[in-house]
Amino acid sequence: MKAHDGMYIDGAWRPAAGRDTIAVVNPADEQVIAEVPAGGAEDVDAAVRAARAALPAWAATAPAERIAALRDVLVARKDEIAGTVTAELGAPLPFSQAVHAGVPVLVAGSYAELAASYAFEEKVGNSTVYAEPVGVVGAITPWNYPLHQIVAKVAPALAAGCTVVLKPAEDTPLTAQLFAEAVHEAGVPAGVFNLVTGLGPVAGQALAEHDGVDLVSFTGSTAVGKQIGATAGAAVKRVALELGGKSANVILPSADLAKAVGVGVANVMGNSGQTCSAWTRMLVHTSQYDEAVALAAEAAAKYGDRIGPLVNAKQRARVRGYIEKGVAEGARLVAGGPEAPREQGYFVSPTVFADVTPEMAIAQEEIFGPVVSLIRYEDEDDALRIANGTVYGLAGAVWAGDDAEAVAFARRMDTGQVDINGGRFNPLAPFGGYKQSGVGRELGSHGLAEYLQTKSLQF
Ligand code: NAP
Ligand code: MG
Repeated sequence: MKAHDGMYIDGAWRPAAGRDTIAVVNPADEQVIAEVPAGGAEDVDAAVRAARAALPAWAATAPAERIAALRDVLVARKDEIAGTVTAELGAPLPFSQAVHAGVPVLVAGSYAELAASYAFEEKVGNSTVYAEPVGVVGAITPWNYPLHQIVAKVAPALAAGCTVVLKPAEDTPLTAQLFAEAVHEAGVPAGVFNLVTGLGPVAGQALAEHDGVDLVSFTGSTAVGKQIGATAGAAVKRVALELGGKSANVILPSADLAKAVGVGVANVMGNSGQTCSAWTRMLVHTSQYDEAVALAAEAAAKYGDRIGPLVNAKQRARVRGYIEKGVAEGARLVAGGPEAPREQGYFVSPTVFADVTPEMAIAQEEIFGPVVSLIRYEDEDDALRIANGTVYGLAGAVWAGDDAEAVAFARRMDTGQVDINGGRFNPLAPFGGYKQSGVGRELGSHGLAEYLQTKSLQF
C-alpha cells in the first residue's frame, strides 16, 4: 500500500498540524519503506472533537447495522493486509496471511453477529436496564499483532455505539492506515472512527489525557499501562489495560510429552516470540525433564529459518540482553543464543534455556522474543506454585492424559485463559489478565460489555 501523509479525521485524510514524521522500517532488511506523520496534541484534539460530534447520531443507529460490512472489506483486502504486516512487522508471509490478516476477519465477523444478537435491553424486576455506549473511546495499540489489536478494540467499540480515536504503535502505522481505509469503505460515517499516527509519549499521552475521551483502552507494556491507568483514574474515566504476560505451559506427567513440548515451543516461536500470551515458561516434572529438554532443543532447531525478525533494533537488543542475563544467572542454553544469526535484519535465533529456576529474571520478566525457559517441578503443588509465582496472569496451558485432570489444575491457576491439551483459539472467549496482566477483557460479549454502561429505568 501507499502510505497516507495525513491523519484520518472526520471521514477524510487531512494534513497533520505539525511537520514531524515517523520513518517506517522493514525489520527484515532494515530499509525505510515509508514515512507517516507524527501527530501531536492538536491532531488528537481535532480527532476527539470529530468523535464527540459524531457520537449522538452513531449511538442512535441500529446495532446490527453498525459494522455489518467491515468483515467483508477486510476479507477483500486480506492480501494487502498480510503484505503490509510483513513489510512493517517482519512476520513471515504465511503467518501474516493466516494470523495477522485471518484473525481480524474472525473478530470483526464475531462482533457484527454479536451486535445483532446482544441484549441491549433487559428487564430486571420493575426496571428496564439499557446498555448504552460509554462514549468516545481512545484506543492505544501495540505493534505485535498490529491489526488484531486494533480490531479487538475498534470492532466492539463501534458495535456498542461508541466513537473512536486510535493511536497505533509507531512501528506499525501502515496497517492502521489500511484499517482506516477499510472502515471508510465499510460505510462508517465521518467522525465515528479517527486515526492519529504518532509517538506514544506525545500523541498517545495527549489522547489518554484528553477531557473529551470517556474510556481509554490500552494494550502494551506494563510500565505505560500503569501510567495510563493512573491518568484515567485521576479523571474518573473508564480504562481497559491489556498488559504483559509470562505464561506457564504446565506439562503433567500423564501428558503426551512430545506433543506438549512441540506445540509449546511453536507457541513461543510464532510471531518471533512477540506475543503477550505466549507460554514462555515450560514446566516439566523432574522425571521427564531431560527428555523434554532434548525435545525442546530439537523443536527450536527445526524452527530455525522460519522465524521472522523482531520488530526493531531496540527490541532485539532487549531480547539479546535477556539471553545474556539467563546465561549469567546460570541457566543452560540448549538452542539458539544471543549471537545475531544473520548480518541484516533484527533476527534472534529460536532459543531454549534449560535448568531455569523460578526466581531467575528470564523466568519472571517478559522477554518478548523467541525464548522459552524449561523449569523443573517436583509435584503438582510445586508446579502450581511456580505457575502462579509471577506478577502476571494472562494465559497458560495445561497438558494431561485426560481433559478432566488438566481442568482440575487449570482451575487453580491465577490466569485469564488456559488452553487445555492444545485447545484451539476461540474468538468469542474473553481474553485478559489476572494480576498485573491487566484490567478488563477483550473479545466476545465480555469485550463488547467493556464499551457499554447501564441505565436503569424503574416502573
Ligand atoms: P509500549 O511503549 O507500551 O507501546 C504500546 C502503545 O502505547 C504504543 O502505541 C505506544 O506508542 C504507546 N505509548 C507509549 N508510551 C505512551 C505514553 N506515555 N502514553 C500513551 N501511550 C504511550 O510498548 P513497546 O515499547 O511497543 O514495547 C515494549 C514492551 O512492551 C515489549 O517488550 C513487551 O514486553 C511489552 N508489550 C506488550 C504487548 C502486549 O500485547 N501486552 C504488546 C507490545 C509490547 P509508541 O509505539 O510510539 O511507543
Ligand atoms: Mg514504546
